[in-house]
Amino acid sequence: MIIEARNLSKKVIFNDEEIIILDDINLNVSAASSLAVIGPSGSGKSTLLGILAGLDSPSSGEIYINQEPLHDLSEDARSKIRKESVAFVFQNFELLSGLNALENVMLPLELKGTEKAKDIAEKYLEKVGMQNRLMHYPQQLSGGEQQRVAIARAFACEADVLFCDEPTGNLDSSNSELIADLIFDTFLESSSALIIVTHDISLANRCDQQIKLIDGKIL
Ligand code: ADP
Ligand code: MG
Repeated sequence: MIIEARNLSKKVIFNDEEIIILDDINLNVSAASSLAVIGPSGSGKSTLLGILAGLDSPSSGEIYINQEPLHDLSEDARSKIRKESVAFVFQNFELLSGLNALENVMLPLELKGTEKAKDIAEKYLEKVGMQNRLMHYPQQLSGGEQQRVAIARAFACEADVLFCDEPTGNLDSSNSELIADLIFDTFLESSSALIIVTHDISLANRCDQQIKLIDGKIL
């Protein structure tokens, strides 16, 4: 199993009241396997992704990435796992505006100390059909093109787990289909686990497993 969650809960105190954002979540995703997380807005999907990726910590419960107990690690150790094992694609792309497409894809590789970062970045930008836009800055690209760069950046990391939070949420229907195809084509060539939050039923149906969250619980 690449990623496992056991009895995961997240509670926060807000205006003196306890809010239960996630309640007793259990899931498993193995290598080269995919999980869709669906459910209405506010049901806890993004919180769950953040906790599984080690960006946020649970109130109780356990998360293992490659057998490593993420919930038990120091912030430093978690950040090491994030850098080495996890990649993210967001709804709003989250490219760095001061870097061109190639530099955006190279950055995480350089931070990891990967050799031949430029060659790898170019290879993944070509996979997503952006080989003629390497020097373009994010503001010179359409939304669909920015998301293609973000997908190249995420897959170029060759991470154990790829998280996508509503990756087609800001795109029109034809771009949504293109992006979904790119995610799945690239995923199928990789050995990563894929966890994808989506409102798009056709995208969810392409995954090996689906869970639906309602008020922080798996339905
Ligand atoms: P989704 O991604 O499914 O739309 P989220 O995970 O973003 O849902 O949020 C789940 C619920 O938790 C929402 O009601 C949100 O307002 C609440 N929430 C998330 N983070 C916090 C926080 N730090 N403090 C208080 N409430 C929060
Ligand atoms: Mg969300």
